[in-house]
Amino acid sequence: MELYSGHINRLIEELSALPGIGGKSAQRLAFYLINLPKDRVKRLADSIVDARENVHYCEVCCTLTDEDICPICSNQNRDHHTIMVVENARDLAAYEKTGKYEGVYHVLHGAISPMLGIGPGDIRLTELMKRLQNEDVDEVIIATNSSLEGETTAMYISKLVKPTGIKVTRIASGVPVGGDLEYIDEVTLLRALEGRTEL
Ligand code: ZN
Repeated sequence: MELYSGHINRLIEELSALPGIGGKSAQRLAFYLINLPKDRVKRLADSIVDARENVHYCEVCCTLTDEDICPICSNQNRDHHTIMVVENARDLAAYEKTGKYEGVYHVLHGAISPMLGIGPGDIRLTELMKRLQNEDVDEVIIATNSSLEGETTAMYISKLVKPTGIKVTRIASGVPVGGDLEYIDEVTLLRALEGRTEL
């Protein structure tokens, strides 16, 4: 005999397939959701479907956006000669929150990880190299995480970019090893950016 109704089981199953949500959390969330007013549940469900349908990659920097070109790339007041390369849109958001970085970004959507079978072809590197060919870029700031994957990716990008003659820098390692950029406070982020060194 099943412990819960089929509908609840299905909900628990879907929730527990999400990252960071274990079986217990999935159960807790499922019971929370079925006790919410119906209109709130509908709003939540609609927001998930809407986001999935309407959010896509920026044609220039590959971050997630509702437009063809994201607000940062289309902002003429930004310094389009400086590109900061980050692993994901959350890292971009972390740097944006400091309000002190005036350049633009490139979002890789991952990092090279031989252990997980993620190679250079699996992240948005081709798009980056195309930008460097077609745009007038003075500096590429590599702001991947200081994890093994982040460092591997930084090395790889530096080797790709150097022959183009464009300056390549790496943010300082004031960022704790293995630290996820998004969890690091703004002061540390800025210090890492200001202390960047040429590769
Ligand atoms: Zn963009």
